[in-house]
Amino acid sequence: MFELDDLIERIKSNDNRLVALQVPEGLKMQALEMMDAIEEDTSARIILAADPCYGACDLVHDKMQRMGVELVAHMGHSQMNIDSGMPTEFINVTYDGDPAIDPVLPILSAHRKIAERRLSESVNDEMSEEEAQERFMDAVGRVAPLKGAKLGLVGSIQHLHLIFDYKERLESAGFEVEVPVGGARLSFPGQVLGCNYSGDRDDIGHYLFLGSGDFHPIGLVLHTGKPLAMLDPYTGGAEEMSFERIEGILRQRFGLIMSSDKAKTFGILIGEKPGQMRRNLALRMKRKLEKHGRKGYLLALEHVGPELIDFYPVDAFVNTACPRIAIDDSVRYAKPLLTPFELEVVLGDKKWETGYKFDEIP
Ligand code: SF4
Repeated sequence: MFELDDLIERIKSNDNRLVALQVPEGLKMQALEMMDAIEEDTSARIILAADPCYGACDLVHDKMQRMGVELVAHMGHSQMNIDSGMPTEFINVTYDGDPAIDPVLPILSAHRKIAERRLSESVNDEMSEEEAQERFMDAVGRVAPLKGAKLGLVGSIQHLHLIFDYKERLESAGFEVEVPVGGARLSFPGQVLGCNYSGDRDDIGHYLFLGSGDFHPIGLVLHTGKPLAMLDPYTGGAEEMSFERIEGILRQRFGLIMSSDKAKTFGILIGEKPGQMRRNLALRMKRKLEKHGRKGYLLALEHVGPELIDFYPVDAFVNTACPRIAIDDSVRYAKPLLTPFELEVVLGDKKWETGYKFDEIP
């Protein structure tokens, strides 16, 4: 379900003549239909921003201003704490499917037991190098000690209008439920992004994700080190994020860190998209490399891809653009592609025993 009425009202009251429509990849097939609907009801002409768009980090910015675009209509993502320099109307997309919770209850009960066991475990700060490396790769349990075993209820944006209804259903089934509220990059209670899980708290011991796909679940488990169940509103199916899968990713990160140990030269990627641009972090990585007698070259890109960077004569890359590029796509690159935290481990500034730290954009 998407609602164009507010957008049409805004276009009419501003008397906008040229409007850019930006839609996520999954809705591009319906984009022409939306353009027709807006043009029929207003005197504006609509330009589809047809480049790939994966988040509100990727808002149409000044390039369209130079084309004469007065307003951007951005669909399917919520507003972030960024300024693209363009007036932007955010259009919600919601899905009303509300599957029964019964299939997910056995998984949640098993995860609550894991959280309760972790609550009673003490943390051993004295560990050998081998134990520290094992802790680094532990899917659940590597992060700070828990203070509670509550169920954290989160979801992707299309399903968040149902989140408090699900909270009540889960409470009736005997769970103590928290809908976490995150930082300024997030707009709604229970919201998570692929790069931001800032609502996590130490009294939450395990999670339920309302949504489809494993993009957000992988990031949530990497970030929190807590078990996670998934309930898919499109299929009604329930499953858990497999610990083996997360440990596989952590082993891969471990391997890339080890293989960068002797790297002398690094390309430091800076994302040009408004919500991915971390210039200060990139400059900090360059200073760190210099301090450790290594060399960093700053490379700014709108899109990051192997064909755009693999040919540079450097030993490895560190990515300060979208954190998920290094995590999800690293096998596509010929050279190690590290996150800033991973580079700090390579340089010895961060330790294995602190556990893996997900690269979050606050
Ligand atoms: S995960 Fe990447 S694409 Fe998604 S919002 Fe974050 S920076 Fe943008």
